[in-house]
Amino acid sequence: MDGKAVAAKVRSEVAVRAKEFASKYGRRPGLAVVQVGQDAASTVYVRNKRKSSIEAEIESFAHDLPATTTQAELLELVQGLNRNPRVDGILVQMPLPKGLDSDAIMDAVDPAKDVDGFHPTNTGLLAQKRPRLRPCTPFGVIRLAKEYGIDLTGLRATVVGASNIVGRPMALELLLARSTVTVCHTGTRDLESEVSRADVVVAAVGKAGFVPGAWIKPGAAVFDVGINRTAEGKLVGDVEYSKAAERAGWITPVPGGLGPMTIAMLLSNAVDAAFRRANV
Ligand code: NAD
Repeated sequence: MDGKAVAAKVRSEVAVRAKEFASKYGRRPGLAVVQVGQDAASTVYVRNKRKSSIEAEIESFAHDLPATTTQAELLELVQGLNRNPRVDGILVQMPLPKGLDSDAIMDAVDPAKDVDGFHPTNTGLLAQKRPRLRPCTPFGVIRLAKEYGIDLTGLRATVVGASNIVGRPMALELLLARSTVTVCHTGTRDLESEVSRADVVVAAVGKAGFVPGAWIKPGAAVFDVGINRTAEGKLVGDVEYSKAAERAGWITPVPGGLGPMTIAMLLSNAVDAAFRRANV
């Protein structure tokens, strides 16, 4: 599955909707991207998000704070963005430097502007089958499946990883799509059997080549969320790609899979948030 191509399609749809918003409301949708400190990977992600926003006709508000920022200072910034009528979406790039409480920061973002979909209100709405702003990476998996005509209804789906930002919301998305869902984590006893009977595998562990290709059921759809840098500086996923690709019916590469899809869904969320706020 070509995440880059589908992401480009999503971004061009977003640009059309953003222009429509601008002609109706006299301003572009606004997305604030906040970075605290200078983690190298985060700097690359933040730069991409800002650049893609502008290309998608979204106004980008950049806030770069030093690593010495206090919890109170960051909270004050978030509260200011919550009140700013030109800001429709707020993204605080994770991870935050040590000493800052990321849960408290996520809780402080207005759920109507929570384009990452990490606020408990948005996670809760997804859990209750009434999604509003949906976590970008899992939403990207669902969109890719749709683009490739994969009907998730009734399929056996195994998610490897149970984090708040990927694994758990992924399981909720798959449930919403009417798959039969298994979630694996460090407590799982027999990972191989959980993966090898799955029609859909989502890997979100953060360990290079963690899922052996030999575990993939022939014909399965494999979504590799992992982004890992090898000793040689290469980016690889959580799935042993070359072997898995021989067995899978569909598979996402790394890079060029869920990475670009995640950014595209973020922009889509920003425009959705703008329209919803304007209509309230
Ligand atoms: P995390 O570290 O928060 O969670 C990892 C999960 O994997 C945990 O639930 C843990 O229980 C599980 N796990 C770890 N070891 C395991 C084992 N031996 N057996 C079974 N389960 C095990 O990570 P995360 O934030 O969910 O991210 C996962 C990966 O996805 C990372 O590589 C991250 O960089 C990547 N990521 C990519 C995107 C994207 O845009 N494509 C977005 C977010 C995260």
